[in-house]
Amino acid sequence: MEKYTDYIIDTAKKLLAIPSPTGFTHMAANFVKKELEGMGYEPVLTRKGAVLCDLGGKDTEHGLLLAAHMDTLGAMVAQIKSNGRLKLTNVGGLNPNNTEAENCKVYTRDGKCYDATFQLTDASIHVNGDYSDTKRTYDTMEALLDEPVHSAEDVGKLGIMAGDFVCFDPRTVVTKNGYIKSRFLDDKLSTCILLGYAKYLKEEQVQPKRQVYILITSYEEVGHGGAASIPENVEEMISVDMGCVGEGLGCDETMVSICAKDSMGPYDYQVVSRMVELAKEQSIGFAVDIYPHYGSDVDAALKAGYDIRHGLIGPGVYASHGYERSHRIGAENTFRLLCAYTVA
Ligand SMILES: [Zn+2]
Repeated sequence: MEKYTDYIIDTAKKLLAIPSPTGFTHMAANFVKKELEGMGYEPVLTRKGAVLCDLGGKDTEHGLLLAAHMDTLGAMVAQIKSNGRLKLTNVGGLNPNNTEAENCKVYTRDGKCYDATFQLTDASIHVNGDYSDTKRTYDTMEALLDEPVHSAEDVGKLGIMAGDFVCFDPRTVVTKNGYIKSRFLDDKLSTCILLGYAKYLKEEQVQPKRQVYILITSYEEVGHGGAASIPENVEEMISVDMGCVGEGLGCDETMVSICAKDSMGPYDYQVVSRMVELAKEQSIGFAVDIYPHYGSDVDAALKAGYDIRHGLIGPGVYASHGYERSHRIGAENTFRLLCAYTVA
């Protein structure tokens, strides 16, 4: 198992380094597709840019879909200001309060890339008397290009336009004792857990009880990632997405979180109960939790009208949508629960 956890963490470092805010996921999709092809699978790119892959299995009548998302939070250029600074708009729930002073890159549609920093407008504390009291919003903050630009015209000459994607530095750090800190662990860590699971099935020549597909979606952060591309024989779908860690919840970063209810309501009774039973049986570190402000890809699938049983599990992630933290043991526990649920 250790070997697959190593693979999950190493692959997560690579995937985290590939920018993929919602709507700009093509590079991440290529990476995921190539990883699966390298293992001997035949993944396909769906029309809306997700990666779907059949991992095989004995019972082909009752399919199971495991979904994670490769799209992340990010931003887009909303306006080039007359002084050459960029006003941004969020892509997904990127919060200005925890993106202040972060490095980012602006990707133009003609293939150029420029460095920038997201700062409070008038960010010198020795100059701006309102520095501490200003509320951080997309109106009070701006991207400062690391280019000698002083006007909208200067910026235009670089090829930068409204609608260009702005991707934030993930700042990935893996500590010696197994903590993984990075932006966008949601949901690249789980995407890599599914890749690790696919690798395990292939290398150990294990056949799941039911036919298993993985779907790596590209529009989760805006609410419709899981709303399409679910194969005909799929009767059950599990979102493998970050588990919440915070006050009042039982999960920490070393556990797999089993979600009983999120903002759309309870998850399937049989699915949740079976996950809990297996985690207990196999001494997998877990917590059952209720997520007060959360929606998953499988919620999107249900809203789209799919008649499926649904579940949500994932490694505990602290400081979600900010500078997130998880742990390799949390990834391993999620991987083990997936194996127990589909193979044993
Ligand atoms: Zn997520």
